[in-house]
Amino acid sequence: MYELKNHMEIVVQQALQDYLRQNTITCSCEHCQADIMALTLNRLPARYFVSLQGEILTQIESQALPDQARIMAEVVRAAQQVSATPSHPNNQ
Ligand SMILES: [Zn+2]
Repeated sequence: MYELKNHMEIVVQQALQDYLRQNTITCSCEHCQADIMALTLNRLPARYFVSLQGEILTQIESQALPDQARIMAEVVRAAQQVSATPSHPNNQ
């Protein structure tokens, strides 16, 4: 099964986990983490590649990715935004 995957999504997921290990936000439930991912990914360029059963078939041009500092800055921005206004009631 051929799949399209977004390399940026993998990189952002990693950056978000790093951020959450070092910082406490109002809520870090799955819903809020998904909101943070969505906000971040909407602000960064997508980098799709073709994968077949987990195997990467298309070479990723990693130099085409924005640098780590830019990605982390977007993660922090999104985390603060979601933290300030979570999209679910506080008791969840
Ligand atoms: Zn939450």
